[in-house]
Amino acid sequence: MPRPILATIHTQALIHNLGVARQHAPDARVWAVVKANAYGHGIERVFEGLRGADGFALLDLAEAQRVRDLGWRGPVLLLEGVFEQRDLELCSRLELWHSVHCEQQIDMLAAHKTNVGHRVFLKMNSGMNRLGFTPQQYRSAWTRLNALPQVEEISLMTHFSDADGTRGIAHQMQVFDATTRDLPGERTLSNSAATLRFGASELHSDWIRPGIAVYGSAPDYPQYDVGHWNLQPTMTLAAQIIGVQSLQAGDCVGYGSSFVADAPMRVGVVACGYADGYPRICPTGTPVLVDGVRTRTLGRVSMDMLAVDLGPVPAAGIGSLATLWGRAANGAVLPIDEVALQAGTVGYELMCALAQRVPVEVAA
Ligand SMILES: *Cc1c(COP(=O)(O)O)cnc(C)c1O
Repeated sequence: MPRPILATIHTQALIHNLGVARQHAPDARVWAVVKANAYGHGIERVFEGLRGADGFALLDLAEAQRVRDLGWRGPVLLLEGVFEQRDLELCSRLELWHSVHCEQQIDMLAAHKTNVGHRVFLKMNSGMNRLGFTPQQYRSAWTRLNALPQVEEISLMTHFSDADGTRGIAHQMQVFDATTRDLPGERTLSNSAATLRFGASELHSDWIRPGIAVYGSAPDYPQYDVGHWNLQPTMTLAAQIIGVQSLQAGDCVGYGSSFVADAPMRVGVVACGYADGYPRICPTGTPVLVDGVRTRTLGRVSMDMLAVDLGPVPAAGIGSLATLWGRAANGAVLPIDEVALQAGTVGYELMCALAQRVPVEVAA
């Protein structure tokens, strides 16, 4: 028998969350962002849930090929564009749309022999200083692209650094609007946080690019949680309790004896550790569900196991199911964001870090 640990991908939740993104931007088309193997879920596993999107956005050419192999004939966007000249051949062959964020990518396009017109998304660095042309360079890049026979259509793109935080998006919107005012072409601006917090019509975003919200994590947690945004978990990580210990006051749990019982208590040992993708840094007290009842982790997370307090669940024992994040059988939800906060990170990192060795099942 394999280790009793399982990740479950919830198809209905993906459909629901995609619908939430659409509600916030009813006039926009939606790129479902499926980079990083669909945020750790698996592109093939989320496809059924996300095929209602208008397109798929990702970074990796092999992942783009996988989307085409699933039979998707609609738009596919390479968010970082191509990395080398020969990538353009795959773009022509698979009809991938691609972003253009630097002069070198325009050089590659100019040297590309093709009779397929390319649809490109010209990316502006409107203040994040990651990828893109500065506002000063942007219009000449547009003019250069527009003169290339390889280019069929140019769309306009930028990315927000603070859509989830107090600084917001106004300063970047001002730069983007001022620079693109009289340029034709569709616009794509909003990630999840911008979509949920600012909608899309006032931004004139023809395409939104939600990722994390589609995967049931609140982009601006802990200011707002998934309940506030009406998002459902799309990934459950659950494992069985494979051992039970009864402690006396003064007994310790796990490596380093970092947890010391101050009274008699029962401890469940769960078949999930950091080699499964559960963060080792999570301290005693990180929330976990056992048989759908909320309790807490105890002591250090090991490679293959972690310990939980069975105090709130006296009936639990070997074979009981611990939900590390996601939805329990009784419907109780432990948002991945709560675990991420304890680990000093975000839901994105936890879902992306789900380990290869964890079996995954797709549920309705
Ligand atoms: C990852 C990414 C997104 C999606 O961001 P979320 O915060 O997950 O919604 C959108 N646009 C670009 C360019 C990205 O790289």
